[in-house]
Amino acid sequence: MQLQTELNPAQALICSRSNIRRAYADFDDTEISGIYLRDDNCVVVRCDGSEQAYERTLIKTAFQQYTHRLKDFFSYLGPNYRGPSVWHNNAYVMFKGWNYSHALGHLTSNAKLQQHWADKFIHLSDPNKVIALLQNDQTDLGHLVAPDGLRAPNRPIDMDADLVEDQAESKVPEPFCSCGSFQRQLNNLDLFRQEIEGFKPWCIHLTWFHKYRELLCKRTEVRNALPSGTPDKCVAWWYAPPQDHISDGKFVLLHTKSGAQAPLTHWRTYKPTEVFNQGHAWDLFFNMMEAGYVPFPGTALSQLQSAIKKK
Ligand SMILES: [Zn+2]
Repeated sequence: MQLQTELNPAQALICSRSNIRRAYADFDDTEISGIYLRDDNCVVVRCDGSEQAYERTLIKTAFQQYTHRLKDFFSYLGPNYRGPSVWHNNAYVMFKGWNYSHALGHLTSNAKLQQHWADKFIHLSDPNKVIALLQNDQTDLGHLVAPDGLRAPNRPIDMDADLVEDQAESKVPEPFCSCGSFQRQLNNLDLFRQEIEGFKPWCIHLTWFHKYRELLCKRTEVRNALPSGTPDKCVAWWYAPPQDHISDGKFVLLHTKSGAQAPLTHWRTYKPTEVFNQGHAWDLFFNMMEAGYVPFPGTALSQLQSAIKKK
């Protein structure tokens, strides 16, 4: 008799129907009565009693690729293309891109709440309160993210106390995110480590944050390389979110070598015969900066507004 093992919480999160489908494109996720483990396989039992085995290593890889995937540039920008904003304890408030998910996205209640709360989170000092406001049954505004690790709140210094090395603070800080996926990994950390060697909890928000920070650093680097500090080579970009749930958004770039304030006649559309969408934004930004161009949101350049209305 072959031993079948029930899934523990970590195994259940890894060997989910979705992850099996991600590992095996032809996987049929209907008529399933149970999923078990047997040796190195994940065994799917069908309602008719038949079963198929799938390699666990492939499913684990699919799970990790999925939690590490990079979402498009607009996925986590708040109102007015606002990136993650500094909160306390080395953490940031990172909004979901409700404004950019759809042409009418800015009218959703989540987008309106983001607008209302954007500058107020800094006045709250309790992380649990911030998380409860960001994500609950009624709101889905975003997450509290600490890519360099959450720092404990500052404590008042007691001058009379003995100097003791604080164990908690001497540890290497681990990245943190308040999202469900990250928390499920964190809450079952030992079980995940039994499944995947050297496992560290991770999520799409941390991946996006790292990419966004890389973009900001690159932009500063390009600017600092200029003798005058004022760039001549500039790119202005606009984004029109999708009109419906099946189309893509429209991403348009104009470029110039005459500085950001140059009149409209000095700007040219970047690759006018090609159509770009949100999925192209990261690569376009990095390619442009590689060529020495500094990107600006087109909405900030008033002399260009008439051009973009026609596009
Ligand atoms: Zn997350």
